[in-house]
Amino acid sequence: MPHRIIEEKCVGCGTCAGECPVEAISQKGDIYAIDPEKCVDCGTCKEVCPNDAIVAE
Ligand code: SF4
Ligand code: SF4
Repeated sequence: MPHRIIEEKCVGCGTCAGECPVEAISQKGDIYAIDPEKCVDCGTCKEVCPNDAIVAE
């Protein structure tokens, strides 16, 4: 299952988007979101998020 950003925890820093190898993360208003169709589940975004806002489903 793809990774997901918990909206309540995301502070919109953009770190995850810069690290995603398949550009599955994009800005959505003040926060970011992962496109489940593009995510290949590598886990990089989860590792770099400073706020623990990303979970593997
Ligand atoms: S798990 Fe990997 S492929 Fe999926 S959104 Fe995060 S960095 Fe991108
Ligand atoms: S790294 Fe974490 S806090 Fe920063 S934009 Fe991504 S999900 Fe949000």
